[in-house]
Amino acid sequence: MNLPWSKGLVRRTFLAPSGTVLTAQLALQHGIACHLAGGTHHAHYDYAAGFCILNDLAIAANVLLQQEGIERVLIFDVDVHQGDGTAALLANEPNAFTCSIHCERNYPFEKKIGDLDVALPDGLEDGAYLEVVSETLHKSLALSRPDIVLYDAGVDVFRNDPLGRLNISEQGIFERDFQVLSELKRRDIPVATVIGGGYDDDRVKLAKRHGIVVEAASRVFSAD
Ligand SMILES: [Zn+2]
Repeated sequence: MNLPWSKGLVRRTFLAPSGTVLTAQLALQHGIACHLAGGTHHAHYDYAAGFCILNDLAIAANVLLQQEGIERVLIFDVDVHQGDGTAALLANEPNAFTCSIHCERNYPFEKKIGDLDVALPDGLEDGAYLEVVSETLHKSLALSRPDIVLYDAGVDVFRNDPLGRLNISEQGIFERDFQVLSELKRRDIPVATVIGGGYDDDRVKLAKRHGIVVEAASRVFSAD
């Protein structure tokens, strides 16, 4: 997976997916919960890929589907890269709906087929992007009728991200997350968020960017 082995990496590899499972449980209780990790959507059943070792989204979906009261799960993935591992792992699970909105010409170069894949052109800007996200969210909700949503709010759509190819501002990312979470709240569907991808040599700026989804959640859910 192109990451050097270390005890810290092993610990993180097991902790992060457990965190996604826990976040989903908290979302069922509170309507919203945000994980400060997760979204390792390139990991497959028997191999790691794209810095992803275990696929927390597939693991959490499978755990949820074994619970009473959960019949269908939607994974709504807006990381700039396709959630290929998630699509492949859940291909034979009809009650887990995988939706990915990603940049067509970006990694992984061999895409897997999810339940709803939306490929975006390079350089897409805020206005057009927000429209696609809104339209795709409505479509995937109508098709999947989920009891819970796992939302991968990757920030590598950001215009200066070295591994993204889109042209989205930080304000655009906030509006994206705000609009997704508002719609799910309006429909009373619990949502667990994970941070997904995001790359920047400036770690403080990157952490703040990953914090956008938490800020949006706080704004949407503290209105009560
Ligand atoms: Zn990514």
